[in-house]
Amino acid sequence: AKLTNDDVRQLCKELHVKFIRLQFTDIFGVLKNVAITVEQLDKALEGELMFDGSSIEGFVRIEESDMYLRPDPNTFVVFPWKPREGAVARLICDIYNPDGTPFIGDPRYALRRAIAEAEEMGYIMNVGPEAEFFLFHVDSDGRPTTKTHDRAGYFDMTPIDLGEDARRDMVLTLEQMGFEIEASHHEVAPGQHEIDFKYSDALDVADKIVTFKLAVRTIAQRHGLHATFMPKPVFGMAGSGMHLNQSLITKEGKNAFYDPNAPIGMSEVSMHYIAGLMNHIHAISAITNPTVNSYKRLVSGYEAPVYVAWSSRNRSPLIRIPAKRGMSTRIELRSPDPSCNPYLALAVCLKAGLDGIKKKMVPPPPCDRNIYEMTLAERQALGIGSLPENLAEALKALAADEVIKEALGPHIFERYMEAKTIEWDRYRMQVSPWELEEYLTKF
Ligand code: GLU
Ligand code: MG
Ligand code: MG
Repeated sequence: AKLTNDDVRQLCKELHVKFIRLQFTDIFGVLKNVAITVEQLDKALEGELMFDGSSIEGFVRIEESDMYLRPDPNTFVVFPWKPREGAVARLICDIYNPDGTPFIGDPRYALRRAIAEAEEMGYIMNVGPEAEFFLFHVDSDGRPTTKTHDRAGYFDMTPIDLGEDARRDMVLTLEQMGFEIEASHHEVAPGQHEIDFKYSDALDVADKIVTFKLAVRTIAQRHGLHATFMPKPVFGMAGSGMHLNQSLITKEGKNAFYDPNAPIGMSEVSMHYIAGLMNHIHAISAITNPTVNSYKRLVSGYEAPVYVAWSSRNRSPLIRIPAKRGMSTRIELRSPDPSCNPYLALAVCLKAGLDGIKKKMVPPPPCDRNIYEMTLAERQALGIGSLPENLAEALKALAADEVIKEALGPHIFERYMEAKTIEWDRYRMQVSPWELEEYLTKF
């Protein structure tokens, strides 16, 4: 059910809301807040509230800095961790220029554009994300460490799972915020967890991912823990991914990826979509794996993908086809990690898939062997390439991919490239402990 502005006014009264946070993300997916009191709600709902866009990374220069917030009433939710009296609610906003046009640098608008294109082609994108994260202890000064006292592994039970209380609290909180939680469990590495919520349309899911991270961090803090969505916090252990299960639904409400008469029950459209993702995956990686650290997760042996292949069987390829068919038919893209901007990540995935459909791209045959165990020659014989090895490679691919650039729009593309190139340069000039260990005495 979609909420209207009137519903929001009514709910604010019923729930004794005093403060409202107007939220949006910058181009890197960092959540921004403008707090107002409920007295200003009408003005906010009319889209009359202004903020200074030049203070947000990747937005605009000082001389053109006035931006307007248009709250999406459907994103109304009360923060359960705040007091009941004088409650705090939030609304996620679209960003508009003073002339009333949508702001081209708003990541939510980039996703809206991709969604509109899909709709024109007769499709709605559904997404089910699987965000993994670590819970770490803080030191006596309250600073996060990478220590966990927990020795549990995948699906393990108490008493060894110290994060379990925190995770239960997270699930309950998310449910109060309107999430339908499908699963929550301990992941492979010590201190690593996963909470999965039910799939929904792309815009709703992008909003939910942003909310999810905020809730998980907040609840962790209340348990004296630090939650991190950093992709690879500890060398030698599994990293955190954010697999994106994707499907297209037709106007008639049918799953366009399902065809009972096709091989493995997967339709031609789904094959084109897979091919589109594989075709653009190098440029997509710059968005779905946006940090220097992201590429330290994409290595052999930790269930994270390294090679560009698909399979209905095992977990080493980039794309896996989960066993469910019928309305649950979907493809699982395994490369994204939770440090990405979810609006941009979904926009580029959808654009790539649609490009595959438009151009009737055909994927290579599925690869049902464990690719980690293949030799280079075996992979080459099957035409299996690799994902980018680092951020620089991904950025180069992004700069060369017109479809993915179009998904971002020129404004976001330019600012993203600029900021990420600086990030890479800062990193590559560092001298790391590994280098000292390796070379200091050798030379
Ligand atoms: N943690 C793995 C990754 O980096 C995924 C494990 C799983 O299959 O859930 O993607
Ligand atoms: Mg997992
Ligand atoms: Mg998964």
